[in-house]
Amino acid sequence: MNMPERSVKVVIYSRVSSKDQEKEGFSIPAQIELLRNYAQRHNMIILKEYEDVETAKCAGRTHFNEMVKFLKNSKECHTILVEKTDRLYRNLVDFVTIDNLPLDIHFVKENCIVSPNSHSSEKFMHLIKVGMARQYIQNLSEEVKKGLTQKAKEGYVTGKQPYGYRKLDKRICVIDETTSGYVKRAFELYSQGNISLRALTEKLYEEGFIYKQTQAKAHKTQIEHILKNPFYYGVISYMGKIYEGKHEPLITKELFDLTQHAFRKDNKPKHMIAKNFLFAGMIKCSKCGCNLSGEIKKGKYIYYSCTGGKGECEQKHIYIKEEIIEKQIIEAISKISITSEHKDWISSVLAESFKDEQKYAKERINSLNAQKQKLRERIDALYIDKLDNKISEEFWLERHNKWTQDLLKIQNNITAYEKANINFIEIGAKFLKICNEVVDLYKIADNNEKRELLNYVLQNFSMDGENLSYEYKKPFDIFAKGLNRNKKLPRLDSNQQPFG
Ligand SMILES: [Zn+2]
Repeated sequence: MNMPERSVKVVIYSRVSSKDQEKEGFSIPAQIELLRNYAQRHNMIILKEYEDVETAKCAGRTHFNEMVKFLKNSKECHTILVEKTDRLYRNLVDFVTIDNLPLDIHFVKENCIVSPNSHSSEKFMHLIKVGMARQYIQNLSEEVKKGLTQKAKEGYVTGKQPYGYRKLDKRICVIDETTSGYVKRAFELYSQGNISLRALTEKLYEEGFIYKQTQAKAHKTQIEHILKNPFYYGVISYMGKIYEGKHEPLITKELFDLTQHAFRKDNKPKHMIAKNFLFAGMIKCSKCGCNLSGEIKKGKYIYYSCTGGKGECEQKHIYIKEEIIEKQIIEAISKISITSEHKDWISSVLAESFKDEQKYAKERINSLNAQKQKLRERIDALYIDKLDNKISEEFWLERHNKWTQDLLKIQNNITAYEKANINFIEIGAKFLKICNEVVDLYKIADNNEKRELLNYVLQNFSMDGENLSYEYKKPFDIFAKGLNRNKKLPRLDSNQQPFG
């Protein structure tokens, strides 16, 4: 057969664990044959073959380490062929070791190639398999599921701290001496009921009030926002509920109530609605890049349009009804809900992928603990020998130090295995649950919560005429695009690509 001019040079890697050897089809020769055939079909040149056979006695991965060393130093070879993910990685440490190298990895049985330029979805599924997805999922479950409500319940501010406060850490808000004076002043002036919001804004500006560094003068809606925030008298308001705050109040409840009373006299319902337009500031005009703003027409319909803030824009006079945008939003997030069929499938893929790995880690931890126990007993016995003058001080010291060192090494190994031994299946199930709840959560949410939710799932909204475009944030991109709900799922036992 003629070799093409530039054949890819590869190494092949195979591994069996002590447990594998009891099962059929897990032998080293079977893996090697598969990989050699694959190389031949793709006109690849095998430079080296590495294999690790783990026995109950010896779990080392001598040849894995040799391979890593070879690939690090090789100028002509950057490709590994391996049967399946779990042959190459046993844990997170292995994954990180490999991921740090600029390699193409062909998972032959999984029909999947991962390279430094791989699509993020491929890499992500890969990360799920080796457990790196844990961080994504932790963030999601913490924030989306319970984080914010819980924070509010505990009396901590749920988002950015209100004006006049600064954050000590992620949760604790304290009064900011440099800005809090203006807030107090605003409440005191407005509560008297003889000054309009506009006049108050002017007055504060003259007294040196700056709301944001980037703007010269505060807008009166920003002042209004401050004056209506119950945070200042010591509570947290979240999703329509009031929780007792952990922060020091800036004003009294009486002053706050007086202020609200002044609003009723002033009676400005338009502004109250205006600041709560669902999509305000979220969607950009596709033509000029300005944010769309909302307004009420005919007294009840909410329309959005380009503000034309960057000069003339052809879309400036196109008004889009809020429902038209929201319909497209719901369509977008409903694509990431996963059917029970998908769920079972993904769960079993995860379970299958990590079965060996989990078992292996457990076995290792058990045997390391046994070693530890034995070593401890030896150190104790040695000490008795020393007390009985059976051994010299020197000999005792030398042995004692060596064994203590060994003990430390064993403990480090145990810790490493425990860390790597994440409960992958539980993590996967948790993540899927969140995916499935996004639409339901959205439907019962108020405007603030909707924005919060969308912010987790979607990004880069832009409006072209009446068409909304957007992108999915990671990792939702895979579950929206990668898993077509009508597509038949690949079978687990086949050689099909599992994450097509
Ligand atoms: Zn525009």
